[in-house]
Amino acid sequence: MKTPLTTKSESVHHPRSVEQLIVGKETSDGAGVKLTRVLTQSLQRRLDPFLMLDAFGSDDPDDYIAGFPDHPHRGFETITYMLAGNMRHRDSAGHEGLLGNGGVQWMTAGSGVIHSEIPQQEAGVMEGFQLWLNLPARDKMCAPWYRDFGADDLPRYATEAGVAVTVIAGTSQGVAGAVTRDTTAPLYLDIHLPAGARFAQSLPATHNAFVYVYRGEVGIGGVKVPTQRMAILANDAQADGVVIEAAGDAKVLLVAGQPLNESIEQYGPFVMNTREEINQAVADYREGRLGATA
Ligand code: MN
Repeated sequence: MKTPLTTKSESVHHPRSVEQLIVGKETSDGAGVKLTRVLTQSLQRRLDPFLMLDAFGSDDPDDYIAGFPDHPHRGFETITYMLAGNMRHRDSAGHEGLLGNGGVQWMTAGSGVIHSEIPQQEAGVMEGFQLWLNLPARDKMCAPWYRDFGADDLPRYATEAGVAVTVIAGTSQGVAGAVTRDTTAPLYLDIHLPAGARFAQSLPATHNAFVYVYRGEVGIGGVKVPTQRMAILANDAQADGVVIEAAGDAKVLLVAGQPLNESIEQYGPFVMNTREEINQAVADYREGRLGATA
């Protein structure tokens, strides 16, 4: 895809400040994949509607080769963004896809899927992110949905300052992302800033937002955000967006969304609103009803 050049940057007059810098927690998941959990369960309320952000990145196959064999999900959406590497997805709704370099897989678990995510490489770098986006209570039991986007299918643009932006979700500078959602209104941008560049993005003041730096270092509202840190952006009432400045080359994710303000009950791969709904999900999974096609 050709990258269109925009002539103007979004205007932000009152940029948000940084409320808190977060260091991710080293952990492993699936059959032993090493990853960094950046958005942990304790931040789910603060960063509503987002439930989790995992960053994975390794050139040691022992860290990723086992992948994520069959496991269930219910009640939310998973968005996997692969910077490097290849992973095969198969699920109980009959979806299958190969997620490759620069691609995005968007899966709405809804009422339930059982799926596997298995690396299709025995060497080399595997690097990317998985973001969990909550579903509103009324949609938690919706039919599962799935789409793969190759790197060339993702909308992109570049600013005059040379900032390259991939719009995974939401809308930025008039460029609509691969996926949009009405209720949670997620914005998910991958932003590559050359040294000395500045990037502005308007954001509704009530939307929760964060920036995760995965290469280099950026400045936001006078605060230095080093690599592998998440900056939670304050919901200043008068703020109309965020301004990101890079002294050296930097790459960041900018994620924002409209909070649901509903109760959050998580038990492992199930995220519902009540304990009873979690018990139902566990029972449905045990008894083979979760992800079963009628
Ligand atoms: Mn999964």
